[in-house]
Amino acid sequence: MTRLLTTIGFDADDTLWQNETFFRLTQDRFTRLLADYAAPDHLHDRLLAAETRNLGSYGFGIKGFVLSMIETAIEVTEGRVPAPVIAEIMAAGREMLEHPIELLPHARAAVESLAEKHRVILITKGDLLDQERKLAQSGLGELFHGVEIVSQKTAQVYARVFARHGDGVERALMVGNSLKSDVLPVIEAGGWGVHVPHGLTWALESAEPPAGHRRFRELPDLGGLPALVAALEGDGAQVVAEQPVDPRSAAQP
Ligand SMILES: [Mg+2]
Repeated sequence: MTRLLTTIGFDADDTLWQNETFFRLTQDRFTRLLADYAAPDHLHDRLLAAETRNLGSYGFGIKGFVLSMIETAIEVTEGRVPAPVIAEIMAAGREMLEHPIELLPHARAAVESLAEKHRVILITKGDLLDQERKLAQSGLGELFHGVEIVSQKTAQVYARVFARHGDGVERALMVGNSLKSDVLPVIEAGGWGVHVPHGLTWALESAEPPAGHRRFRELPDLGGLPALVAALEGDGAQVVAEQPVDPRSAAQP
């Protein structure tokens, strides 16, 4: 039997394990460090502007975040930021790189269950070393058939990854906490996108849900994912409907 879905892609940060919470804690620490120089809201705005500006050159991850904090500290102090404050920012970054892994509910069970009949692929952005460390510490590494640490999550990237590890993006489903990175580009590429919201989402990852799209689903947590995949595969009619109709062949008796 031809399966509708052969390959399941999992996002990592805030889908399988906690991540944004550590960024928020560090940002609170950053706010306190610079309390004499900038109001929290202003500092937050300037930091977000720096992160946005730097994303193209530093990419996603902790190292770029630390550099953006330092740049913001220099900016809001008009070049007078004391060296011990810079040292504190760097120490906060190093602590983030060592934080223990906290798996999110049902993460292991969902990956284990889906790995029985599907290829499961981890697809994540961020610093290469940090993501490798987190995957190793998560204990989930052995379950994945493939791991892709990418600099961007675009429709082209998903098409390439699912062609390499599976049977193309049309027979793949991606699950993640970011509509912008994990859901919209996969749907655009022709695959299925499942959104599992996380309470905390980075401002630069926000997007509108593609409400009503037939290849879009939302789940409260990963617990329902195996059943959702089974339900989608149970409805064979959806595979047929997905094929583009050639008007010439349709016109023949
Ligand atoms: Mg994520």
